Amino acid sequence: MNYRFLRFPEGKTKAVTFSYDDGPRFDLKLVQTFDKYNIKATFNLNSQCIHEESDGYHLTKDDVNKYILGGGHEVAVHGAYHKAPGKLRPIDGIREFLQCRLELEEMFGRIIRGMAYPDSGITVMYNGMKYETIRQYLTDLDIVYSRTLGGDNDAFMLPNDWLAWMPTTHHDNPEIFDYIEKFLKLDVNSAYCADHYPRLFYVWGHSFEFGWNNSWDRLDEICSKLGGHNDIWYATNIEIYDYVTAYNSLIFSADGTRVYNPTLKTVWFEIDKKTFSIKSGETLKLENID
Ligand SMILES: [Zn+2]
Repeated sequence: MNYRFLRFPEGKTKAVTFSYDDGPRFDLKLVQTFDKYNIKATFNLNSQCIHEESDGYHLTKDDVNKYILGGGHEVAVHGAYHKAPGKLRPIDGIREFLQCRLELEEMFGRIIRGMAYPDSGITVMYNGMKYETIRQYLTDLDIVYSRTLGGDNDAFMLPNDWLAWMPTTHHDNPEIFDYIEKFLKLDVNSAYCADHYPRLFYVWGHSFEFGWNNSWDRLDEICSKLGGHNDIWYATNIEIYDYVTAYNSLIFSADGTRVYNPTLKTVWFEIDKKTFSIKSGETLKLENID
């Protein structure tokens, strides 16, 4: 019996994603840099801050359509009014995130299921609020993932709990370039057999941090190092969620030698250093595996 590990599209062992909040106009410069390096990102927007006309600070509806969605990036929920769920009654949290989802979906004519927690998110709880309560109502609202914060680390793991998705690092973490070097050097397929799991590098922040600090060089350096690698899949948060969900939907025979793909995606995986791909609707007999 061998371990089985997810492989990203085309059998890739690594993925990179970015997540930026609040929709400030600095996002226009940010997204130019992402596009230059073919990096895909998720933009977490407050529905009450995005309008047809510019308020001088936020992106307009047209900006989002043209530069974010038009560039293949994702729009996700960040609360209608940027309120932290840990500080809200459940009924107010439900309104905050349902209103945001409804308004963004109406504004941009698409299904939006991703989220990043606004403000202190789930890191601070008031009035006896519990994470499990928030997790339950977000699940009921069909929010499938939500980014949290406060746990930068270089383990590069996919999340076990998608509603507490911990990024790898904030862009201002002084160790980010060490993390990037470690990530790029990793040869997943040559690692110890139990460590062939896929690796994800997930950067988050706010574009105004580059704007106010005039530290755009830092963004360019991060993107130039992480971008342009053949063994890395560049994807938005929801693309990663959807792909991993497809992988987890594969159906195996009891002895593990036969697999059926009931999803609409081609899915890749590795067993015993062999990479397999299985198309939508296909049943595959896995030869030469123990
Ligand atoms: Zn925010």
